Parts: sequence; structure tokens; C-alpha cells
Amino acid sequence: MPGRAMTDARILVVGAGLAGLAAAAALARAGHRVLVVDQALRPGGAVHRQPLPGGRSLASSAQARRWRALMAEVDAQGARIEIVCNTRFGGVDHTGTVLLTGEGAALINPRALVLAVGAREAVQPRPGWTLPGVTTAGALQTQIKTTAEAPAGRVLLAGSGPLLLALGAELVRLGRPPLAIVEAGRPFSRPLRSLGLPLSYMAEAARHLSRLLAARVPLLTGAHLTRISEADGALMAEVETRSGARRFAADRIGLHDGIRTNDTGLTDCAALPVLRLGDCREALGANAALADGRAGGEALAARLAGQPAPTASTTLAREASAQARLAQIYAHDGATRLAGLPDDTVICRCEMRTLADLRTLGPAPTTRQLRLDGRFGMGACQGRFCAEWVARIASPIAPHALGMPRWPARPISVADLLAAPDLTLGETK
Ligand SMILES: Cc1cc2nc3c(=O)[nH]c(=O)nc-3n(C[C@H](O)[C@H](O)[C@H](O)COP(=O)(O)OP(=O)(O)OC[C@H]3O[C@@H](n4cnc5c(N)ncnc54)[C@H](O)[C@@H]3O)c2cc1C
Repeated sequence: MPGRAMTDARILVVGAGLAGLAAAAALARAGHRVLVVDQALRPGGAVHRQPLPGGRSLASSAQARRWRALMAEVDAQGARIEIVCNTRFGGVDHTGTVLLTGEGAALINPRALVLAVGAREAVQPRPGWTLPGVTTAGALQTQIKTTAEAPAGRVLLAGSGPLLLALGAELVRLGRPPLAIVEAGRPFSRPLRSLGLPLSYMAEAARHLSRLLAARVPLLTGAHLTRISEADGALMAEVETRSGARRFAADRIGLHDGIRTNDTGLTDCAALPVLRLGDCREALGANAALADGRAGGEALAARLAGQPAPTASTTLAREASAQARLAQIYAHDGATRLAGLPDDTVICRCEMRTLADLRTLGPAPTTRQLRLDGRFGMGACQGRFCAEWVARIASPIAPHALGMPRWPARPISVADLLAAPDLTLGETK
């Protein structure tokens, strides 16, 4: 995008979750004007996702309090903060020009860019994981938070991580307990390991567990969902447990294999300050995202004013140690199963590329071969879903087998590009 002239005096924050809004409030308190954009229809992010207009919220009272307090901070800044939803960040080029698509479509040159786009959910490939009715557990959670209703039919949850327990307990609360929770780890096998967790984590886990146990939801730990197929209008899930094989007939299956940082496709730019805050930088959970957003906003304000950076928040170190302990508690060898998957397992779900397609590229394919010959990482998700697994299967030592992030962050249609007024050519708001 050549020939840019005017600079938007505002700071652009991408993501109206905890981190983005906390950063916006901190920057506005320091006197900056801030534009916050979010691709969702309403602010909230993953934790505080808001119900559809007219719908009821399922947030706990603690969650509701945290959200109200943050929104009060934002509202207190009045016109200094503008939030525009239904607007997606497409990327920033080398001149510092940002492309926004959707409702707030525009080409702008912000004074600084804060990326607070949250974590992404990992889902490990398994035969049948692309069938209709199989989604991420996060997608089921989104449906529940926005509609306050459980998905219709029998739901099976599988993979690994605390989100499965939280979602299972929510389904029980809505009167639709899941068929089972298939957990690859064995988080309850050595209870003493949990003692180092913060009390709030233990209390939350106890609440979820008591709901699940009261509803007699089977918690299959050390178990793996190995294959999903379709039979008689249902999804048949084959599960390997420590005591033998089991099968479940389900209507919806929610898969979840952990939370990851979300750096794919977010390029750096030497033309303006770019900051990553919250779970997209380091996936440490909600408390850390809030603290990181606030501290990052204050640090950016200090940097723009030529002042020394404020002291770092202690919350991040505490939450990092809690997350490291959780990772130990849930540790399992599920990823080693990738090597044993059948050849026809889809690895790249955007372009439906299989394990056989990956294997034909040879034992140590280059990034170029993976992308150009294999088409891995070339679809709409640009590797968000498959890069981790391609790296593990194709080249166990290369963490970024699909290469460095590229501009734009996501594929952009020509129509979207044409619809974006070029605000860099004249005075902006
Ligand atoms: C699927 C999932 C479910 C989770 N559920 C919970 C939970 O129930 N409880 C809990 O404590 N923690 C949960 N977490 C962890 C939780 O996301 C964080 O700890 C916290 O929400 C992080 O805050 P954040 O502001 O960094 O990101 P988020 O809250 O995720 O906010 C990021 C925002 O950026 C927006 N965004 C992303 N990409 C773009 C783009 N290109 N353009 C414009 N906007 C964009 C998103 O729409 C989102 O609103 C979950 C994480 C995931 C991935």
C-alpha cells in the first residue's frame, strides 16, 4: 500500500476483551485517544462474551462484577475511547498502514498498534474430526454464552484441559449433561500436585467437579477419542480408555486440546510501535490478561511520552506459575499419537490435505514444499489449525514448519479491500 500521508492521531487496539479494554483505558487515562476494534458483534472477548441482544447472561456474579468494573473504567474515559465491533484487523504493512474490514472498514495509519486478539484453541487431528457436528469445545461455549442455551442433542466432550470440565459443568447447569468427558490427561491421579494452585483455581475446579459428579457424568481420564464416524444419522465416537474400548453415539462433539498463543499472521512493523498484550502474547488466563492489558497500556503511554517504563505487574508471574502447574497436572502423551494416525486423516481442514499428502513430501520437507506443493498453511486459517501438527509430524525439531507470519493476517477479499475508505489520504476522526 504505497504513498501514505496522514497519521491517525489515535492508538489502535485490536480486541475488545479484557486485555484490549484494560490497555485502552490505561492509554486514555494518560490522555490518548484510542480506537478499539473487534471482529465480534459485541465487546467481551472469550471470557466475557455477551449474550445476543435481548438474551440473558450466564456469567457468574464474580465474572459479571469484573466486566462491569472494566466497562466503568472504559466509560469513564468518555469520547477518548471509541469501540467499533464487527470489524476485523487484516494486518499492518511496512509503512504502518492498517487494514480494517467489516463495519468499521478503513485503511488507517494509527499512532501505535496494540494487538490483544486473545488465545487460540488447539484441536489435534483425529479421523473424522472434520465431520459436521464436530466443533471445538470453544465453539460450543460461544453458542452457550451467546444464546444461554445448550446445543441440541447428545454432546460428547473430548481432548484435554480445564475448559472441558468448565463446559461440561455449564451443560449440566443448563439441564443437558454431556454423555462423557474424555480427558487424555490424568489430572486427579496425584491430588497433592494441585496443592500449589491458587485457591481460586481449586475452588472453581471443585465447583465444576461437584456439578459433574452430581449429574453422574462419566469422567474418563487417561482416555483418547481415536476416531469419529457417521452411522444412522449420529456421530460414532470410538474412545480408548484405560479399561478398554468404548463407543458413544453423539449429535455434537466438542474437541479441545489446550490453549495457545495467537501470533500466526501478526507481522511486526518498524514504522510504528506494535505491542502484543494478553493471551495472544502469553496464554495465562483471564486475571493475567487484565493485568497485562493494564500494564501494557501504561508502558506504551510512558514510552510515547519518553518516560521510563512503570514496574512490571506481579500478577503475570503468579499466573504463569499457576499455568505451568496446570500444564504438569494435565500432561499426557497424546501428541505422540499423531505418528500413528491413518493416512487418510485430514491435517489441514481448510484445504482438506491429509496425512498421506504430507508424507508424500518426504521425511524433512522445506517450508516451501509444505506450502506450495502440500498446500499446508495456505487456506483461510493460514496455519492456525494445522501448523502445530504439521511441525510435529513433518519436522519434529522445527517449531514453525510453515514459516514466518505474513501480511495480511487473514485472506481478504477484493470487495473488502475496495470497501475500505482510505483514511490515510486525508484528515481522520
Ligand atoms: C475458546 C476459548 C475459551 C475460553 N474460555 C474461558 C473461560 O470460560 N474462562 C476463562 O477464564 N478463560 C477462558 N479462556 C481463556 C481466556 O480467553 C483468556 O484468559 C482471556 O479471555 C484473555 O483475554 P484477552 O483479552 O487476551 O483475549 P480475548 O478475551 O480472547 O479477546 C480477544 C478479542 O480479540 C478479538 N479478535 C481476534 N482476532 C481479531 C481480529 N483479527 N480482528 C478484530 N478482532 C479480533 C476477538 O473477537 C476477541 O473479542 C478461553 C480461551 C479460549 C481460546
